[in-house]
Amino acid sequence: MTDCLFCKIVAGEIPAKMVYEDDTILAFEDIGPQAPTHILIIPKQHFASLKDVPGTEKDLLGQILLKAKEIAREKGLEDSGYRVVLNTGRDAGQAVFHIHFHLLGGRRMSWPPG
Ligand code: AMP
Ligand code: ZN
Repeated sequence: MTDCLFCKIVAGEIPAKMVYEDDTILAFEDIGPQAPTHILIIPKQHFASLKDVPGTEKDLLGQILLKAKEIAREKGLEDSGYRVVLNTGRDAGQAVFHIHFHLLGGRRMSWPPG
């Protein structure tokens, strides 16, 4: 997708503070952190949101979730806890339409979300 912000980060056309990269996944710091740790984990392949991910991509979704767990451990969040958020569509407040999982931690969070 030529006009997608996160595809441009994948392509190296827009800078980001990288946290992790492999052939299929990229993790980088959120530009507007909502917690002391706020990292976005994305597939390199463009899917606009969860509703656009086909059933064949179980491994990809699983890899991202397990990577969130690994990064949380590396950031020292295992004991204190953390939140993984996947905003999907308008009512959830999705602003960037390249699927991304938020990893948030380092402060106490409330529930239910706003
Ligand atoms: P969402 O509301 O779930 O679509 O979240 C989009 C997230 O992307 C927000 O938390 C933004 O702060 C973040 N964001 C937007 N532009 C950038 C960027 N260039 N680099 C890193 N994070 C970004
Ligand atoms: Zn994209």
